[in-house]
Amino acid sequence: MSLQQVALADGVRLLEGKRNWWFLGRGGITRPGAGHLTPEGSLRSETEHRLRERGLFSSPPVRSYALTVLTSTHCNPGCGYCFQNTAQDTAGGSRPPRIARARLTSPTITSILGFTERQMADAGLERLRILLFGGEPLLNPRGCLELLERAADIGMTSAGMISNTTLLTPPLARKLSALGPDLAQVTFDGDRADHDRIRVNRADGGGTFDTIVRNIVRAGEAAPLRWTLRVNVSQETFHGIDALIDRLAGSPDPSRCALYFARVGDVGIGYANDLLHTGELSEHFTRWQRRALELGFTVSRPGCPPPVPYLRPHGRPLRSGDQRGRDPGQLLGDRGQTRLGGRDGHRRLPARNEDR
Ligand code: SF4
Repeated sequence: MSLQQVALADGVRLLEGKRNWWFLGRGGITRPGAGHLTPEGSLRSETEHRLRERGLFSSPPVRSYALTVLTSTHCNPGCGYCFQNTAQDTAGGSRPPRIARARLTSPTITSILGFTERQMADAGLERLRILLFGGEPLLNPRGCLELLERAADIGMTSAGMISNTTLLTPPLARKLSALGPDLAQVTFDGDRADHDRIRVNRADGGGTFDTIVRNIVRAGEAAPLRWTLRVNVSQETFHGIDALIDRLAGSPDPSRCALYFARVGDVGIGYANDLLHTGELSEHFTRWQRRALELGFTVSRPGCPPPVPYLRPHGRPLRSGDQRGRDPGQLLGDRGQTRLGGRDGHRRLPARNEDR
């Protein structure tokens, strides 16, 4: 695919492919041929009319209330780019300073669920999707389990989690899965050697690659979980990503995994990534996606994400989705961590620079 693209109204994009074009709309993706475009590269009016009629310009209706809950702000690894760090580790180690520690408790769960119930009623939504988030959510397994158990009473129909999985044991996977989560997102920072240099335990500086792979495999044997494997792309991981894809195809089972590649950037804490968004970088992303498909992984298509506001309790949006847990006035389980706009059927968990 070339880099040629056309931005249309409503955030819709047209990308030129080898044989045709890709239309990325809020309501779906389609492939118009050259005959559907004007010589200038815009949609012909009759084509646009048809796509609007089919709903491809508008977001599908919201069916579920999506709730993201931080069950622990602490984390066992000390990744240098983590959005919940407050600076770099000046000693050059794996212990960057972080936001204050907090854990989700029973009273906060009561508060969150009460707030959520009211918000769902206001929005006319009866279904709830919960995302367990951190720090590392599994540093507070009791909080995760209690939240999921009690959320069933207010209409929780599905759940997922973003976890580094270093603490995910088969019994815990079984318990979590029985209460809702069917999808977990975990991150790899490049191939094993790169990952073990970047994603290290705070306590002993040890690598986590083999632990993560082992835990995914064992948890997958214990529970019907599917996985989104996020691959962080930076100047430190770039050269090992082809090898990583092939390594992951050996284990865990690719048919239960989606691979997702994301460039890691600085969220204001001094993490440097020299990789620039260039045509060359795009070609690497395309090659990785193709290889992942060849090996049996699922990959997500580029899309046209709907605008999703993150709301504070008083209804004003947070500065951005990346501020969760960092806002000084925002407590763990604060109602400001809820968001409207979740949709049934979306398969990839929210993708952010900070995620596991
Ligand atoms: S990026 Fe994820 S695993 Fe790494 S320190 Fe932050 S919360 Fe922990």
